Amino acid sequence: MMQQYLALKGEVADALLLFRMGDFYELFLEDAAIAAAALDIALTHRGQHLGEPLPMCGVPVHAHEAYVARLVKAGHAVAIAEQTEDPAAARKRGAKAVVRRAIVRVITPGTLTEDRLLDGRRANWLLAVFPGPGAAGLAWADISTGAFLMATVDPATLADEIARIAPAEIIAPEGDSPAPLPAATVRLPRRLFDSDSANRALQQRFRVGTLDGFGTFQRPALAAAGGLLGRLDETARGEPVLLLPPQTAAAADRMEIDGATRRSLELIDGKSSLLATIDRCVTAAGSRRLAADLGSPLRDITAINARLDLVQWFTSDSRLCDSARSLLAATPDLGRALGRIAARRGLPRDLLAVRQVLNQAAALQALLGDAAASGAPEALQHLLGSGFRIPESLGDLLNRALADEVPAMRNVAGVIASGFDPRLDELRALQHDSRSAILALEAQLRAVTAIATLRIRHNNVLGYHVEVASRHADALMADPQFQHRQTLGSAMRFDTAALRDLATRILTAESHALAAEAAHVEELEATILESTAILGQLADTLAALDRHAALACHAARHGWVRPRLTSGRDFHIVAGRHPVVEEALARSGDPFVPNDCRLEGSGRLWLLSGPNMGGKSTLLRQNALIAILAQAGSFVPAAEATIGIIDRLYSRVGAADNLAEGRSTFMVEMTETAAILNGATGQSLLLLDEVGRGTATWDGLALAWAILEDIHDRIGARCLFATHYHELAALDERLDALSLHTMKARQWQGSLVLLHEVGEGAAPGSFGLDVARLAGVGDPVLNRAAGILHRLESGDAGGRARAALADLPLFAAATAPPAPAADPLRQRLAATHPDLLSPREALDLVYELKALAADAPSA
Ligand code: ATP
Repeated sequence: MMQQYLALKGEVADALLLFRMGDFYELFLEDAAIAAAALDIALTHRGQHLGEPLPMCGVPVHAHEAYVARLVKAGHAVAIAEQTEDPAAARKRGAKAVVRRAIVRVITPGTLTEDRLLDGRRANWLLAVFPGPGAAGLAWADISTGAFLMATVDPATLADEIARIAPAEIIAPEGDSPAPLPAATVRLPRRLFDSDSANRALQQRFRVGTLDGFGTFQRPALAAAGGLLGRLDETARGEPVLLLPPQTAAAADRMEIDGATRRSLELIDGKSSLLATIDRCVTAAGSRRLAADLGSPLRDITAINARLDLVQWFTSDSRLCDSARSLLAATPDLGRALGRIAARRGLPRDLLAVRQVLNQAAALQALLGDAAASGAPEALQHLLGSGFRIPESLGDLLNRALADEVPAMRNVAGVIASGFDPRLDELRALQHDSRSAILALEAQLRAVTAIATLRIRHNNVLGYHVEVASRHADALMADPQFQHRQTLGSAMRFDTAALRDLATRILTAESHALAAEAAHVEELEATILESTAILGQLADTLAALDRHAALACHAARHGWVRPRLTSGRDFHIVAGRHPVVEEALARSGDPFVPNDCRLEGSGRLWLLSGPNMGGKSTLLRQNALIAILAQAGSFVPAAEATIGIIDRLYSRVGAADNLAEGRSTFMVEMTETAAILNGATGQSLLLLDEVGRGTATWDGLALAWAILEDIHDRIGARCLFATHYHELAALDERLDALSLHTMKARQWQGSLVLLHEVGEGAAPGSFGLDVARLAGVGDPVLNRAAGILHRLESGDAGGRARAALADLPLFAAATAPPAPAADPLRQRLAATHPDLLSPREALDLVYELKALAADAPSA
């Protein structure tokens, strides 16, 4: 058996193998240790393997789904090996024969279709990466809905693209890769990643002679698609998988947002994310679409305006918007239903879902079609045109075929409506009649035996039988009409010829009816799958409508406005708000103070100072979110917004350690800053918070200074630069596109009042001590800090502040400068009077100094 186990395990090396043994699935060896820890179940040992005790653990078959779910959630792939023959058959082959087993399914985080394992409001992507040297190919699919995309990207942006897609599982070819991949990446044989065979396989799959009709796919993307198809084959084990025709997802059409910015802005994940705050979608598919849009804002003004037109149209007619939303609310998740039906795991309610969607879509089409006739935007015509085809004959068929209430499980009677198939109706009538016939027979037997408590019962062992209490048993034993079947403690069971006859008729009718239903269900599923492409598009369109209407509803409720997008470098926000902070404040009844932000001309670069807690980070973040919302095609939380299309958005607000990857806070900060300085262009938007804070004050200030100059002089991006370094305000004189702004605060009756309002100029200080007081730091520490601060501030920048520090006994030992060594270079310099030198003498001096430096021992 262990040989068999190891052979199966060899087929699915990267999965935990659940090995069916009777009523349990067992795991062995290393798998057992991993699963026992992940599931918190007992790890035991049994027998020996290679001379060592064999570690094993097991989960009961009846409860295995929940365990599998936990393993998959924890990021493991799980393979299920079933017994594929009857143990009795194995015994016939010999006393020691092992029951045959085979892997029937492999479940990985990226190949789920089960409702209970999926988050309805989030796509579940399996991403294949082909990291070629000049270009990286990406192919990603969500087989729970069939969505399938491909892209070829610059390897330098690979990490950002992966962050955008946020896959549940990543696969890549074995071996070295020119670009780093996440540690959890599953490696597959390189031969799978072959662009030619992938191209052929896709052509076959979608029955086309060329993929050009779907878009332009380059070799790296096709190679990645090869890996993707390989993974799907491996996991589906011969069962079909839903894939809709591939779409291109060119990175150049999208606003680039790197992983660090995504995390720092909390766009999609978490309870207080942007998505969670504004998601008013009434369907899960709408939420998935909104998440995708927010995660991937556009750059094309026409495409953005098409979305905005629809949002605006819905805001302009709230009754229409409400009606559309209530129709949408009653549309089940068509995409996910299709995914399950295609994988042959469809439940009766998935069929019902398709019917329900088709009916609701028809109603929606009528509603929007009327409205479209009276001045709806062109984008609506477009949406209602190609993407909104309702296969009417399928709708009719499902309306006639399906019962209004269906059983929860497959292969249970009651899916098909009466009236759909006369033969099925007949079989059902027979079943029904037989039941009344049983009741009639029972009454008759009671009459002839005069036993009023005689009953006809049914169980799985005996089938139909007559049951009487023991005290009546003798009478029936004596009656030749009754044959004894079973004696229980208090009752005795019998059979009669008439009952047997009736039972056979019932059973036959039942099994024939069930078979007829199963055949109908199979046919309905096949008919549905013939329309996969149309239904997939319909699902997309419904999701888009839900998204537009939901954004309109949110915009109307919160006074959001339509942003104006330009191809220039505008950034002008009037009375902007942070949607998440505003909502949090509203819960405690506090008002949010709206703020303007104009990053244009001589104010393209804002140096933002102000007290701690003054609202700097909030201002930075809100402008990033406004930009993202605008380019995703949403209204924005402001009174007015004009934004020149942003190609890349970088936001560094709040520190993050990355100790897991062995990088300190400052190292992370500088790595990210390097990425910004290398990647930003004149069309980018940069939001930088306290650059340089993670290291010594003077090093930090020097870095912040130089970075600010670089952004101003070389990059020319629009930038909000928040800092506590007041010294930077001096740059205002030299950098003409820099303007000083500050979050206002006031001292009032000895304490600090934060106004959260941005104004012009620089802050007089950080009020750090006042904020520390607000936070509850005690007087002894505050008084001492005030003393130190006074001394520090009485020096000017640089050397004198250091001297002030040195004066303080606290720091004297640590900062006393080392006595300079007698150095000929220094001595010569000290003896020089620059004002007395002629140009010729100055040049000679430089030569002299160089010679001295060459002689001097290196420090
Ligand atoms: P620090 O320098 O300490 O990081 P900060 O200046 O970045 O502080 P924020 O974190 O942006 O300050 O804001 C602190 C708090 O002030 C927020 O949590 C919020 O409650 C409140 N706040 C910020 N901006 C506003 C605003 N515009 N209106 C009302 N309250 C605000």
